[in-house]
Amino acid sequence: MKKSDKRCAFCFQANKLTREHIWPEGILKRLPTYTARFNENADKVIGGDHIIKDVCVTCNNGALSELDAYGCTLFDKYFHAVAEPETELQFEYDYDKLLRWLAKIAYNTVRSSANPKLSLLQALTPYILGQSVRPSEMELYLDIVTHSAVPTVHGVEKFPATAYRSARVERVPPLPDWCVVRLVSINSFYFYILLFENNYRENDDLAKVRRLMKGVLVPPESASLVLPRSTTGAFDVHKDHLLSNFDKYRKFFRG
Ligand SMILES: [Zn+2]
Repeated sequence: MKKSDKRCAFCFQANKLTREHIWPEGILKRLPTYTARFNENADKVIGGDHIIKDVCVTCNNGALSELDAYGCTLFDKYFHAVAEPETELQFEYDYDKLLRWLAKIAYNTVRSSANPKLSLLQALTPYILGQSVRPSEMELYLDIVTHSAVPTVHGVEKFPATAYRSARVERVPPLPDWCVVRLVSINSFYFYILLFENNYRENDDLAKVRRLMKGVLVPPESASLVLPRSTTGAFDVHKDHLLSNFDKYRKFFRG
């Protein structure tokens, strides 16, 4: 592809392209000690930030930076604190701003990895930019994750819910190929975006997929949600990922 043929990943115009952080810079600045990131494409744990270079100035400085500002507001109000198991939390949100922001992070992650399910996320770009209404083929779930008590040879150790992650969610057996579930998590807040192709809306299979979703459905028509007490431990969420990639994390931290 010639350089002049490159188009913005959001508006698809041949505008001047800029650097965009996969995770908003404002969030990275607020979490300076969280350095280990798992790169799906490279299949290894890397430090530093991921940058993509396929977003135009207009999108980056306009609609996308407005979403980042909103995400940082939510961080300062809610996401910065790690939930205690007995905490009951009132979460107030602007549904579309929240979902557009999360979808943007998920879409950024997918473009930096070799994920074949780009199309369902790519179709959201007019919505992410605020130029079209929300597609009906998407739902948002929220699970509050607290620390786990993990028995080790040294006694019981606390495994904290201090991480952020953007990744595809898989299940055993695998999810059907007409849907995709993306996790975007910051500390105790685990958001799951369910996307599906429109011809499956009324199908019983969709009900089955919904039953696999963790946490509670975030109601689009509401702006406030009382979150149930957390029952999910951080170790249980990350266990499979950490155990299957243990050597890669060890290599990163020990050099
Ligand atoms: Zn653009």
